[in-house]
Amino acid sequence: IELLLDSEFTENTQLADGTNVEIHLNAGLSADTGIAINHGVDGVGLYRTEIPFLMQSSFPSEDDQSLLYQSILEAYRGQPVVMRSLDIGGDKPLPYLTIEEDNPFLGWRGIRFTLDHPDIFLIQIRAMLRASIGLDNLAILLPMVSGLNELLDAKILIDRAFEEVMEMAEAEGKTLNRPHIGVMVEVPSILYQLDAVAKHADFISVGTNDLTQYLLAVDRNNVRVSDVYDSLHPSVIAALQNILQTCQRNKLPVCVCGELAGDPLGAMLLVGMGYRQLSMNTRSVARIKYVLRHLSVKSLEKHINTISRLPLASEIRTESETFLKLHN
Ligand code: PEP
Ligand code: MG
Repeated sequence: IELLLDSEFTENTQLADGTNVEIHLNAGLSADTGIAINHGVDGVGLYRTEIPFLMQSSFPSEDDQSLLYQSILEAYRGQPVVMRSLDIGGDKPLPYLTIEEDNPFLGWRGIRFTLDHPDIFLIQIRAMLRASIGLDNLAILLPMVSGLNELLDAKILIDRAFEEVMEMAEAEGKTLNRPHIGVMVEVPSILYQLDAVAKHADFISVGTNDLTQYLLAVDRNNVRVSDVYDSLHPSVIAALQNILQTCQRNKLPVCVCGELAGDPLGAMLLVGMGYRQLSMNTRSVARIKYVLRHLSVKSLEKHINTISRLPLASEIRTESETFLKLHN
């Protein structure tokens, strides 16, 4: 308890040179809001809505969803909460919806599934919007987007839900602001469409778990190939640098919400590249804050220069471990 209440873990995260790095939370259960350490963050960077869906025996109703989402938005009142639309399929099959496919990770998951089921998508978006009335801290994130067309199609549905909920809010004398809409960067094809995406999205969130899986063509849950699954692979590092540069050029806010952001070596690399928003699980928050507070942008940039020249993931890991030991 003492550790959790220590101001070290509840204050903003500044590097040794005063540079601010926003630490957001990856959440997926309402229970997350009861943990003290979760209130020392700058907001919720990823609320995985599929988790409450997975714990039910049938699709939750709009009212039930709205109540749940409201409890999260209220718990983080005044801070941004990024709610991701349903990302089922792949490694997250719903017990009450059988999808049989040879390649679930390449199949009907994320935005592909919800665009084919606009009823499910509209109910969820309406529930989110209803929950945000009077709070206005909601942002909506779209998973598994592989092309601009999916973002445009989703935005048409979000607009429709917004008009409906706004009418409802106005009838009750309340107001509703348009939420920011973001795109997950986790399917490699979207890397080459980021300039176009920037014209239609308000922010992006990099999902390094799936980005690693799809860039290296390696199943993220298959132990036989777990040595191939490595987010420190030079190609993943190059992709992450490229994403940041494109976002900076387009003035598009960007957060990293994959596991890499909650790993000390990963967080160091990301901040060294120039990322200033990281989102991670509860168990990583204190550790990452601690690690970052001992580092400066200058030393991290030097570290990035060194590892950018290394062609092997094993060399990048060893070099990063040495750097971490030296500075912490
Ligand atoms: C990711 O893919 O990195 C991500 C954050 O989403 P999920 O792990 O839920 O697929
Ligand atoms: Mg993902």
